[in-house]
Amino acid sequence: MIYDFIVIGAGIAGASAAYELSEHSKVLIIEAESQSGYHSTGRSAALFTRNYGTPLVRKINALSEPFFNAPPEYFTDNPLLSPRGALTISNPGEEAKLDATLRLSTKQNPIIEMNVQTAIAMVPFLRVDRIGRAIFEAGVTDIQVAALLQSYLKGTKNRGTNIVTNEPVIALNHMNDIWTVTTGKNTYQTKTIINAAGAWADEIGALAGAFQIGLVAKRRTAIIVDAPPDCDTDGLPCIDFVSNEAYIKPEAGKLMISPGDATPIPPQDVQPDEMDVAILADWIQHETHIPIRRISHSWAGLRSFVADENPVVGYDTVVPDFVWHAGQGGFGIMMAPALARALAAICFEHKLPADFEASGIIVTDLGISRLT
Ligand SMILES: Cc1cc2nc3c(=O)[nH]c(=O)nc-3n(C[C@H](O)[C@H](O)[C@H](O)COP(=O)(O)OP(=O)(O)OC[C@H]3O[C@@H](n4cnc5c(N)ncnc54)[C@H](O)[C@@H]3O)c2cc1C
Repeated sequence: MIYDFIVIGAGIAGASAAYELSEHSKVLIIEAESQSGYHSTGRSAALFTRNYGTPLVRKINALSEPFFNAPPEYFTDNPLLSPRGALTISNPGEEAKLDATLRLSTKQNPIIEMNVQTAIAMVPFLRVDRIGRAIFEAGVTDIQVAALLQSYLKGTKNRGTNIVTNEPVIALNHMNDIWTVTTGKNTYQTKTIINAAGAWADEIGALAGAFQIGLVAKRRTAIIVDAPPDCDTDGLPCIDFVSNEAYIKPEAGKLMISPGDATPIPPQDVQPDEMDVAILADWIQHETHIPIRRISHSWAGLRSFVADENPVVGYDTVVPDFVWHAGQGGFGIMMAPALARALAAICFEHKLPADFEASGIIVTDLGISRLT
């Protein structure tokens, strides 16, 4: 059979794209790993933060929000967002670093100044002598990433999509308007390829002879440690340390802590660097009252960016019927609902959805011509 679309990659980008495309067409998802979401999607901090990323990313996040708050009927039985809040603190002497974030405060999504004592009352393991200034954004929420991914996959399967796993794509050939996709095990045919291969998107592009978007994968590390005794993690916000990009987030009764690193690295099943973890543990002891007795778990994931740190969604300019859905950086979960709709509109109507246009986003903002 000849599929209308073959989506390469079953992370959040591929799953959400397949969901939108399969409403009107026959879709196959091909995933290299044995399970969907194995790479970046399964390793994220799972936050929805309106005021994060480039101005374009923020607009796209805003367009995702209605989906998160009111997903389609039968999509999921559980809420996709849950309240968290974010406390951002600066070290003494670096108070001005919070000015830019404070200016993003709106009536709908207020960001308020908080005195140091209130911040400590909210997060008792912070050190009073290390806080110069604190601000609080209540609107930051957790995203239920596993539920979102599985709901997209279930939804697209219900619409007739086939999903194959354990099949890395190793060759792509285009002849007589049909793409032949070769994996380690099988050969498939499609009219159009959707390249949602995450950090590997430029490698898939190279197999097709497509334009190279200059994707750079950057490693981000995270560890899980016990919260201090008597600390109720349920009510804790996420804590951002503006002085050095680190953040702490409650995670199933423990604390997830990331140094906010962004080390360029070739696409791979990335693992944490031992030295990064040691430096992070040392930083935690100096900046907080969290006792690091044991690191229960550590991991790393890839955040993939093109030069302007905006996502890349659109047709290739070198080869036909090859569509990019890549470069989601550190915002791919929160952007997924809106970007998947944008991708489907580009494929079916060669234009963006009305809400994108109303936000002032045009096809070339997302497409690859901006990268040439
Ligand atoms: C530590 C960390 C924290 C983050 N925090 C957040 C956050 O709070 N909020 C947020 O929105 N985003 C966050 N992100 C970013 C987010 O995780 C990514 O933007 C998003 O997961 C990217 O999704 P993807 O589908 O493009 O990539 P992936 O999830 O990596 O999926 C790509 C898939 O393509 C497959 N693939 C690759 N090559 C082939 C091939 N040859 N054949 C077949 N399949 C192939 C891979 O196996 C993979 O499953 C974070 C990322 C990290 C690492």
